[in-house]
Amino acid sequence: MASRTSTEKAASSAQATLAAQFVPYQRRWRSAREDAYVAEALNDERRQGGGRFTKTCHAVLGARMGAPVLLTQSCTAALEFAAALIGVREGDEVIVPSYTFTSTATAFAMRGARIAFVDVDPRTQNLDPQWLEAAITPRTKAIVAMHYSGVSCDMPAIEAIAARHNVPIIEDAAQAIGAYAPDGRALGAIGAFGCFSFHDTKNVSSGEGGALVVGDPALAERAEILWEKGTNRSAFLRGEVDKYTWVDLGSSFLPSEVTAAMLAAQLEETDTINAARMEIWEAYQAAFSEIAGKIGVPFVPDGARHNAHLYYLILQSAEQRDGYIAHMRERGVQVVFHYVPLHDSPAGRRFGREASPLTNSARAGERLIRLPLWPGMTPSDISRTIEGTLEFFA
Ligand SMILES: *Cc1c(COP(=O)(O)O)cnc(C)c1O
Repeated sequence: MASRTSTEKAASSAQATLAAQFVPYQRRWRSAREDAYVAEALNDERRQGGGRFTKTCHAVLGARMGAPVLLTQSCTAALEFAAALIGVREGDEVIVPSYTFTSTATAFAMRGARIAFVDVDPRTQNLDPQWLEAAITPRTKAIVAMHYSGVSCDMPAIEAIAARHNVPIIEDAAQAIGAYAPDGRALGAIGAFGCFSFHDTKNVSSGEGGALVVGDPALAERAEILWEKGTNRSAFLRGEVDKYTWVDLGSSFLPSEVTAAMLAAQLEETDTINAARMEIWEAYQAAFSEIAGKIGVPFVPDGARHNAHLYYLILQSAEQRDGYIAHMRERGVQVVFHYVPLHDSPAGRRFGREASPLTNSARAGERLIRLPLWPGMTPSDISRTIEGTLEFFA
């Protein structure tokens, strides 16, 4: 290697220091027994899904939800699973908020449904029930309520309209593990189906992973059949039927035991993880509420218990947001935005229609910014983020 000048060495060591102090916006939590459980799963002869770690996860999640739960390979798969269970098909419509991740819509569009995009409440970025009634048509097959940042949608309002039109609600609770609505119900356990994500970017993670909560008891048995490739294998293993055969439509939704082992370890720490995230969330909220005249801060409805999945600010313009990202990058802090509103995306225009004004979705797409939030952030990571932000808005 060519010898370097002292200036080069100094520059590279300054860079290394900054890299060491760099605050990424997200980092996966490693739970205490994760490695041990994964090693156990690897030692088992049987690594296919449905084994002891899967059963543990079903029991833990089932107890939290008060309803049957089936692990899936992702939240996207859980949404596709829900779509299959309610029989979404060509010609149907599914109501989806425009400000959400693509999976909320594509799981239904995959089955031929047209997506009816409605706007979000600018305080929570959650589906705004005021647009719901007008978006419903005789073709409406489902309403998808996504709990943005783990803060509950206005479920009583959505449920009242859904009940009036006899349309099932599917909760996209990808971000909402361990969060509750103001009336105490667990998010994900309110609708006909609830869909969770255990992707690396979520509070509780198994790399890739998800779960379907079957809120409608009438569908529990059918869910199990679809989960097992359309067979009655689960009933057969329980000795309830004497033949194992193809009985209905299905797919292979279940993850392997290795994934379930990772998840089982993480699920033991759900409340610990969420509490650690909450401390950071609260520190941000306390610091930024003081400048709330200049920027928007998260709003949590009275009584709702969220899970500190993410912390965001809403700036005054896309230009200001870009300036803020650059300002924070110089200070070694990564802040990021997300969600091109789906109604305004190439596929959204192809597979969807605008079922309400969508100004608040567009506004969130342009101005919302997420701050670093992960358990393990040091006090210095947190204060650097807060100080850099206050400095920018001073
Ligand atoms: C993360 C996320 C998903 C997708 O989850 P996967 O497990 O990666 O499929 C779906 N919807 C929302 C709202 C999400 O945040």
